[in-house]
Amino acid sequence: MTKYIFITGGVVSSLGKGIVAASLGNLLRARGYSVTVQKFDPYINVDPGTMSPFQHGEVFVTDDGAETDLDLGHYERFIDTSLGKFNNVTSGSVYQTVINKERQGEYLGATVQTIPHITNEIKSRIQKVVKQFNPDFLIAEIGGTIGDIEGLPFIESIRQFRSEVGVGNSISIHVTLLPYLPTSGELKTKPSQHSVNTLRSFGIQPEILVLRTQVPVSQSEKDKIALFCSVSKDCVIECIDMDTIYEVPLALENQNLAQSVLKLLNVKNKLPNLKNWKDLVDKIKHPKHELKVALAGKYTELNDAYISVVESLKHAGCACDTKVKIKWLASEDCTSYKKAQEMLSDVDALVVPGGFGFRGIEGKLNVIRYARENNLPFLGLCLGMQCAVIEYARNVVGLKGANSTEFDEKTQYPVIDLMAEQKNVGGYGGTMRLGAYECHLKDGSKAQKAYGKKIISERHRHRYEVNNEFKHIIEENGLIFSGKSPDGLLAEIVEYPKNDWFVACQFHPEFKSRPNAAHPLFLGLVKTALKNKK
Ligand code: GLN
Repeated sequence: MTKYIFITGGVVSSLGKGIVAASLGNLLRARGYSVTVQKFDPYINVDPGTMSPFQHGEVFVTDDGAETDLDLGHYERFIDTSLGKFNNVTSGSVYQTVINKERQGEYLGATVQTIPHITNEIKSRIQKVVKQFNPDFLIAEIGGTIGDIEGLPFIESIRQFRSEVGVGNSISIHVTLLPYLPTSGELKTKPSQHSVNTLRSFGIQPEILVLRTQVPVSQSEKDKIALFCSVSKDCVIECIDMDTIYEVPLALENQNLAQSVLKLLNVKNKLPNLKNWKDLVDKIKHPKHELKVALAGKYTELNDAYISVVESLKHAGCACDTKVKIKWLASEDCTSYKKAQEMLSDVDALVVPGGFGFRGIEGKLNVIRYARENNLPFLGLCLGMQCAVIEYARNVVGLKGANSTEFDEKTQYPVIDLMAEQKNVGGYGGTMRLGAYECHLKDGSKAQKAYGKKIISERHRHRYEVNNEFKHIIEENGLIFSGKSPDGLLAEIVEYPKNDWFVACQFHPEFKSRPNAAHPLFLGLVKTALKNKK
């Protein structure tokens, strides 16, 4: 029977609840238990796919084609398990289902209300994910901060759910902030006490508190919090800022978090196998080499916008005992080729990630051209690949003004164009080509060698593609289409064979990189950059 762990947050948002949830999942997995992690997001958007990365960070895409919260990326990386569309639940999707049912007359004349209709729908989403994975443990993280109006239906659902599954089958973990006042050198516990009081006022007494803090929490402070919050002393866990998020599971293990969870849930504790994870952390903390990689994107003010790309670079670096430093380049600042040259003069490799819209495109073309002409190792992701094709068409093939119809509908050379299946699509939510698709690799290509196989599956999120009318002329001029959809119609990977590593893909490899299984394309980039540096 599945045991349930609900994680809420207190005092402020962006506390790292997602990392705590993922880390606990990691520790349970290390004991041989199966785990799935679900995220509840209280906003009204049906999914984060329509939200600006400036506001909400990256949209993480699952194999089954759901556009989800970036925390799902952390979960997958920490529990080394692929998740799906049921693992992310938003208020918007819950209300949408309930309203659709109401319109279908399914409530038989009842007044449709938050309790029980919305709460029942939320509880049924928990059951759905349990039915899909049948895990030993379901960890559910509730986004936002306790007390938010939007979050209340989720909190009420958890209260109901907990009483339905009974004592010993679920626990509540509250992650909260202890602010540090440097002037008095004090950690303040009052906001956390209030936060726990608020949680209790909704009928949920947390069994475990995880305290986010910049400085160590003394035993007397922990005891005080335990007393005020009615939590046993050994269930007050400190979670101090770490050099790397991958160290968090180890820090929590040292304080017996998983052991306490298992005891509360009447499940046998087992010896965790954390060897690989410890090696990983050790490698991250003590690299032998260093590389500087430029990331030329549009949303560089918010690093979360490219979190999976950043993590993938770390994984590949770690596999090569290398610290990858990122040089953030706002592509719209690379206004000329000369500027691009200046900005790339001190880097060992270039990544151009995915994105939407015209802003910064010319800058991306400038940096890609520099990489191509100067054998700077390059990896293009989705929009990054489309830009690589546009750059090649303009500067090598000689198709002046070549463009994507996303940016210039009237271009004479639409080398990137809307996919046929997208032409009659209406609306913006969940309507792109999304999720895992197979791709066939060309024998002997860099991509094929990197993957070590001929058929791969990767996750997608795009509307545009390489226009087949131009494939021939581009190929004749030296760019290779080394990955294609099984029917051969869709270009999935391009390579410039004259360079050591100039590879760009239509899919998003960053969603499949795992800490102890770096993605072949990121690995290819990092390995080449290291070799060239030496
Ligand atoms: N805007 C491009 C498209 O829709 C690229 C998308 C992306 O980079 N995810 O095809």
